[in-house]
Amino acid sequence: MALIVQKYGGTSVGNPERIKNVAQRVLATQQAGNQVVVVVSAMSGVTDSLIKLAKEVHAEPPEREMDVLLATGEQTTIALLAMALQGLGAKAASLTGAQAGIVTDGLHTKAKIANITPKRVHELLDSGHAVIIAGFQGETPEGHITTLGRGGSDLSAIAIAAAVKADVCQIYTDVDGVYTADPRIIPDAKKILEISYDEMLEMAALGSKVMQARSVEFAKKFNVVFEVRSSFNNNPGTIVKAETQKMEDVVIRGVAVDKKQAKVTIAGVPDKPGIAAKVFKTIADAHINIDVIVQNVSANGTTDISFTVGDTDAAKSVKVLQPVVKDIGAREVTATGEIAKLSVVGIGMRSHPGVAAKMFETLAGNSINIGMISTSEIKISVIIALADAEKAARAIHDAFGLAGK
Ligand code: ASP
Ligand code: MG
Repeated sequence: MALIVQKYGGTSVGNPERIKNVAQRVLATQQAGNQVVVVVSAMSGVTDSLIKLAKEVHAEPPEREMDVLLATGEQTTIALLAMALQGLGAKAASLTGAQAGIVTDGLHTKAKIANITPKRVHELLDSGHAVIIAGFQGETPEGHITTLGRGGSDLSAIAIAAAVKADVCQIYTDVDGVYTADPRIIPDAKKILEISYDEMLEMAALGSKVMQARSVEFAKKFNVVFEVRSSFNNNPGTIVKAETQKMEDVVIRGVAVDKKQAKVTIAGVPDKPGIAAKVFKTIADAHINIDVIVQNVSANGTTDISFTVGDTDAAKSVKVLQPVVKDIGAREVTATGEIAKLSVVGIGMRSHPGVAAKMFETLAGNSINIGMISTSEIKISVIIALADAEKAARAIHDAFGLAGK
């Protein structure tokens, strides 16, 4: 008898029909002789409407009350799913995060899990119940309700799988798994059967938003093997686990495109110590995250500094930097959203030389200009014109032989 943790996201429980579909799947898992713990999200759209509602009564909703409010989203789903299961004749019981023993710190709306004592979960499992737990929530040692940040029910599922020592952890979503590229851009992208935690983290950070990044980090730390798969069919998904020797044989695991970037450039910056520090301190104080940074070689004592930010932060970056530009005697600060970040990811690049060369040659062969470059041990990113992004992604996907066969 295996102990299986299944997590169903918002779209998988988005309406009563889908909740009944999930109930069928849970029942089938139980009938196959397994113990089942189910972690659910709020029905799709519910968390967003609760946030909207809160803002209608308070411009900046107090965070403690926000958590009390948002936790109702998941609480609705656990009750409905437990009812649907009982309607099918199954033994099932719902538990809030607190009832399931999930204890967090007191950082409301973005709490961290401190520990899990799943005593009730085990009791219910032992008496033959499917245990339905509210994702995204916990409580402080003092008994205040907390939530774990947007997308946090992924984290709940992984943490619960670790706490109950599950044999299998399945993350059910509305896609079949993780692909070598976004199938909407590259129709012959193929499903990745196995991916390492680090590759999954890079892909998540690059915009393939299959899972909350924090939950992947948690899985890596506690070595929780999990599978990302669809709740709408029975296809096997993508297994995410610690890297194996075999994984390194593949040069590149996937290609990702992020079109939601903007480039900020400060031109005519005096080339002397302390300037970059001033610029980036200003950006940091404005709570703007930066990504790729390039500083040109100086000519005649001045240089240009460019960096990328999320496109929603472009205007704000220019605004906060305007006084700095005056102060340091630079010429001007400008921003453009007409760029994209194209990345290749794979632990295989640690042992296969020539990945960067192949990527740049492929771009050159397609007359695509590279604006900026950044690399990590398992990733190479280039900033290119937005208009070139999809063509470039297809060319690179082909060049590394990632297309489905
Ligand atoms: N309901 C929460 C959200 O929408 C948590 C989750 O779905 O994972 O962010
Ligand atoms: Mg989600």
